[in-house]
Amino acid sequence: MAARHVTRGVLTALNGTTGAGLLLALATRARIRRGRHGVLIAEGYRLPVPPASCFTVGSVILTRRSAQWLLDEQRAELFAHEHRHAGQYAVLGPLFWPAYWVACGYSYVTTGSWGVRNFFERNAGLRAGGYPTDLPLRPWLNRLPLRGPSATRSRRRRDGSPSPD
Ligand SMILES: [Zn+2]
Repeated sequence: MAARHVTRGVLTALNGTTGAGLLLALATRARIRRGRHGVLIAEGYRLPVPPASCFTVGSVILTRRSAQWLLDEQRAELFAHEHRHAGQYAVLGPLFWPAYWVACGYSYVTTGSWGVRNFFERNAGLRAGGYPTDLPLRPWLNRLPLRGPSATRSRRRRDGSPSPD
């Protein structure tokens, strides 16, 4: 196992998020299997939330399907996506949860999708996670007088002052 995978496993064990994932697996009677890169897979998860085919808590990937299904070569990108979430838990610990929900809220308010503008899902890979890779901003946002970098640049040019880039 690569050193970074060991580090991730140790960090998620120490910060309690893997323990939370294992508790959730036990409470929902999911069966815990060995995964890849030191990640555990809890198969046969049955609760209706979240609606995704799999989700990650610490270094535990919980899935409605079997561990074999997730470890299949055809699901390599999905596994990699969930594996990156485990890395996010290693960095943030339990702060992952509030931070993730804020990111979900921001994405939902601006696009109507929980994932498209969610930092954590973008970081883990939108396509691999089954999210659209881009969506237009909701119409009311375009009516706000927001100044993006391009708007600033064009205004600067109109003023005749030199552009720094
Ligand atoms: Zn994800």
